[in-house]
Amino acid sequence: MHKHFKFSMLIATTLLVVMITTPSQLISSASAQSGSEYDIVLANGRVMDPESNLDAVRYIGIRAGKIAAISARPLRGRTVVDVKGMVVAPGFIDLHSHGQDDENYRYKARDGVTTALEMEVGVSPVSAWYAQREGKSLINYGATVGHIPVKMFVMKDTGAFLPRDNAINRVATPDEVRQITDLIKQGLDEGALGIGFGINYVPTTTRAEVYDLFAVAAQRGVANYVHMRHTGAVEPGSGIGALQEVLSDAAATGASLHIVHITSMCLRQTATCLSMIEGAAKRGVDVTTEAYPYTATQTRLESAIYDEGWQEKFGITYKDLQWVATGERLTQETFARYRKEGGSVIGHAIPEEISRLAASNPRVMVASDGLIEKGLGHPRGAGTFARVLGAYVREQKALSLMDAIRKMSLLPAQRLEKVVPSMRTKGRIKIGADADLTIFDPAKVIDRATFEKPAQYSEGIRDVLVGGVFVVRNEKIVEAVKPGKAIRRPQGDQRQ
Ligand SMILES: [Zn+2]
Repeated sequence: MHKHFKFSMLIATTLLVVMITTPSQLISSASAQSGSEYDIVLANGRVMDPESNLDAVRYIGIRAGKIAAISARPLRGRTVVDVKGMVVAPGFIDLHSHGQDDENYRYKARDGVTTALEMEVGVSPVSAWYAQREGKSLINYGATVGHIPVKMFVMKDTGAFLPRDNAINRVATPDEVRQITDLIKQGLDEGALGIGFGINYVPTTTRAEVYDLFAVAAQRGVANYVHMRHTGAVEPGSGIGALQEVLSDAAATGASLHIVHITSMCLRQTATCLSMIEGAAKRGVDVTTEAYPYTATQTRLESAIYDEGWQEKFGITYKDLQWVATGERLTQETFARYRKEGGSVIGHAIPEEISRLAASNPRVMVASDGLIEKGLGHPRGAGTFARVLGAYVREQKALSLMDAIRKMSLLPAQRLEKVVPSMRTKGRIKIGADADLTIFDPAKVIDRATFEKPAQYSEGIRDVLVGGVFVVRNEKIVEAVKPGKAIRRPQGDQRQ
């Protein structure tokens, strides 16, 4: 502690001299006006801002949870943290984070994530979900209203988290579709961030039902976050066909569209799917996509994903499935038994070159699709962001560090900011931006979570701040702080 004190005294002296002699050299006008100290100063870090492309050694002054100064010269702070040799990046924003509890927020924070959003499956009812997390969250949180949970409720499906019977087996009646639509509208009224879809999990959902809900999204100005209807190359029912459905709905209604985990849907046809998305975007459709940097999927074995025909669709068989509870590989016999029982299964189905293709594409956002439950799950729940930085940037040189940071921070912020004004001050390092910051060692950062032992914190993410509060310090969770805030659309009087 007193090392910092001495250091800040030294800085204070330097600053005074600078102010007397050359005030114009001070980059931040805020610091010139007040001349006072900042709450926190991050000293000597390699500051990387994907919006301005700034990549230089800077001092960052934080005041009242915001970035108040970015300076080439020393700043005075009540707390000064030397981050020499570290990269200072905007906190990572995970658009696809199913784990929305303290256990998961800890893995997220240690992986550099400052905002974790449940955009795919989504939630319902929305107000209750936000109320449960108010003042109790390590990092920022938010969700869409989910077509899946709404549909499970209306159709009285008995599944947990994902449907397992009524919402899979029969088509919703016109009256049920009306109730589903009303509940989705209610969720949007309560500040949900958009509409989440997992059409693959509710395969009896008609194309008309999806199209009409896209029209609702267009009317409300929100985006649809979609796990598409099909996966793989087998026709009819390919990933390409599924992409055509939602691109067409987006073009026809004017709704914005975000396709989740493109690699696990399009598999070996991922390049074609990416060119379709890019082509549609060039022609004016507001469409974006994301991927997690792993060669395996994870979902529930009893879900519709593993209905008849899964082997042909995924191009895999029983031995490629790994039962999460035990780590064992499946056989025809255990597949049948566990499917009846219900539970999480990992499917080793994504070729490494496909994962690398998405990781190296500067337009494909990084999103985890993560969920750790009592230490079990897919490693993506703990290691996604460090894995991109360590394995794909440093080791494989598949993309630049700045592109990786952009895919993890600025792009997800921009996906949301048209309808969620609070996202305009996230995903960038500039004066007035939220002090959600991730400080990592680019030479060391790496994921430790594996398929066998998923509940392992990433390494090399040294410090993480949420709203100017340290939630990770020297690679340890800071206990007893809960600075996470709700990310929510403005409601009522605040609506813009
Ligand atoms: Zn999904």
